Amino acid sequence: MSAELSLAERLARQISAGGPISVAHYMAEANQHYYGTRDPLGTAGDFTTAPEISQMFGELIGLCLADVWMRSGSRPETNYVELGPGRGTLASDALRAMANTALHPQVHFVETSPSLRERQRALVPNVLHHDAISTLPEQGPLLVVANEFFDALPVRQLVRTGNEWRERVVVRPDPDEPDRFAPMSGYRRIESGIPAIATDAPEGTILEMPLAGSAIALELAHRIARQGGAAIIVDYGYEGPATGDTLQAVRAHKFADPFLEPGESDLTTHVDFTMLGNMARQAGLRVTRTVGQGHFLRQLGIDARAGQLSRTAPARADEVEAARCRLTADDAMGTLFKAMAWVHPDWADPAGFEG
Ligand code: SAH
Repeated sequence: MSAELSLAERLARQISAGGPISVAHYMAEANQHYYGTRDPLGTAGDFTTAPEISQMFGELIGLCLADVWMRSGSRPETNYVELGPGRGTLASDALRAMANTALHPQVHFVETSPSLRERQRALVPNVLHHDAISTLPEQGPLLVVANEFFDALPVRQLVRTGNEWRERVVVRPDPDEPDRFAPMSGYRRIESGIPAIATDAPEGTILEMPLAGSAIALELAHRIARQGGAAIIVDYGYEGPATGDTLQAVRAHKFADPFLEPGESDLTTHVDFTMLGNMARQAGLRVTRTVGQGHFLRQLGIDARAGQLSRTAPARADEVEAARCRLTADDAMGTLFKAMAWVHPDWADPAGFEG
């Protein structure tokens, strides 16, 4: 296919030649283009993530994993693995904190965007990049971090139509508006994997199935079960099963229409932490509770760390305090964002998840 076609034009041609495409296919294509062609983070970009708000976020996650590693026997040849590391900020803060505890892991990033890979190399020069979980080293424990990664992966959406569930598909309603797409109920009937709570859902109800996220979670969990280690997952989400459409687009720090100009805004859905926990348990891992990001960071000592940073640099005290609030307050990121950890059955439990 010609490289000069825009993503909208390519999708339009796919639809006119092959018929409507699934929401999952649309989301996968849109995000691959979106992340592949820009740095979306920060005030000049489309959205700001926790590690970009303050170094405290990455430091506390790094210390949490270093603590688990030490209490589990300080195994050599340990790997730090991050999924979708953005600018590499979280990793560089976490690795600095780990180094203070004598943990110097080999660093691996699972990242598909060529432009973000380049940015990550500038902050973490010795990183090894991977397209997928499958090429991660098969030797040595894995200390894994995924912040705002699972929300960017394509989900399949089903629509309740009559008394059936049908795949939600994407069409192009008006040939004169080349950038505008629209969702509709397709004809393909789906019967497997429907949770019990959805059996009597009213007409038009949407049910999301995390096609890519569940596969990645399961593969990762099996690796940790074989090699040892732990994973910390932070994202906005809920404890399912639940019904409802959570697909959203964000552009220049505002909500946008997910079906307008694909590839020019960040498409996400809310992450089902129950599903993530189930994948890990299936692989034989221990799973912590799901807690709010505020709870997690407070238990890891964000208040003390903020105090320390403010004393060292009094001119920055207001900035540190604002960041602490934004990361932990209930009306900011403290409860919408959630944290969960997985750990190998022979490893120690991570701090941060107690009642
Ligand atoms: N964790 C970072 C960035 C979150 S944005 C932070 O907290 O700042 C989502 C990240 O996931 C980006 O780095 C994006 O390029 C990456 N990503 C999206 N889809 C991916 C996929 N299918 N495989 C690997 N990385 C992906």
